Amino acid sequence: MIEQMMRNFFLFLGENKKMTKLAKKYGLSLGASRFVAGATLEDSLDALRKLNKKGFSITLDHLGEFVDNEKEANEMTDHCIEAIEFIDKHNLDSQLSLKITSMGLDISRELCMKNMRRIMDKAKQHGVFVTIDMEDHSRCGVTLEVFKELKQEYDNIGTVIQAYLYRTIDDLNELDEYQPRLRIVKGAYKEPEEVAFPNKKDVDQNFKNLIQIHLLRGRFTSIATHDDEIIRFTKELVKRHNIPKDQFEFQMLYGIRPERQEEIIKEGYNMRIYVPYGDDWYGYNMRRLAERPANVAFVLKGIMKK
Ligand code: FAD
Repeated sequence: MIEQMMRNFFLFLGENKKMTKLAKKYGLSLGASRFVAGATLEDSLDALRKLNKKGFSITLDHLGEFVDNEKEANEMTDHCIEAIEFIDKHNLDSQLSLKITSMGLDISRELCMKNMRRIMDKAKQHGVFVTIDMEDHSRCGVTLEVFKELKQEYDNIGTVIQAYLYRTIDDLNELDEYQPRLRIVKGAYKEPEEVAFPNKKDVDQNFKNLIQIHLLRGRFTSIATHDDEIIRFTKELVKRHNIPKDQFEFQMLYGIRPERQEEIIKEGYNMRIYVPYGDDWYGYNMRRLAERPANVAFVLKGIMKK
């Protein structure tokens, strides 16, 4: 009950535009560095190299929330292009993740597609794979449409499906003709009961179901979770069906359960770390806190150090 209240509180804070702007002004503080590699790409390079050296692949994400004008959308696009060039220049084993609202989706679909094609052209040129993150349920349909349109032009693109949404099983079936590489997650936004399973048990069961269907169809699957039970289920499933290790990977967020991340690599599985960077860390951090209010301790430590 208290945990649910805290979860809602942090999600509320994370969606607050004024707080986002304030937080940005105060720079990378409040314990953000535990979950964010650096304020710039150069600042993040050491952390990225360390991850690759340990055997992790990466997906880089330039943080940004609430892009509501064309100038900001174009700047966010430039950041993605810069990240693609950076990955290639430093020979990093890394993909790119992005949110299409940052590329201008809420301003116009046209602007978003123009920016996405700029990114995808550069990504193709440098051999970098791009994943479109999934945002809240109101943008799920349009995100999948954008993905389908781009998938017909570029093969180095994938997207995300969320186990908490009722619609996802139908989406998975409709997406299959595109032979998609999909990241499967539980879902990070506060969604109403009309669209999402309210109980964790149902979300977890749906998660397992989606993983099983996609893997048994022979599609590449990224299982993005910190949940040991889902990881155990996947390991057993791939063993039972002789699914090769290059058909799937586990994914976790930078700074969350780092010891577990290393154990999974040592067991011989592929593990990709989602690494956010940039000065717009606030909303991202609030969602991490909402998932696990115990992380508040890290944030408080960050404040005490100031
Ligand atoms: P939870 O149910 O949150 O946690 C399950 C268990 O994991 C816990 O009970 C605990 O045992 C363990 N655990 C979790 N956190 C910790 C911790 N900090 N320390 C110790 N144990 C812990 N969501 C989206 O909506 N769209 C996206 O595009 C998206 N992309 C993602 C990419 C990656 C790589 C990952 C890992 C997540 C992404 N998410 C995304 C977030 C996701 O939807 C969940 O909100 C988030 O992963 C938390 O769910 P969980 O599966 O880890 O399980």
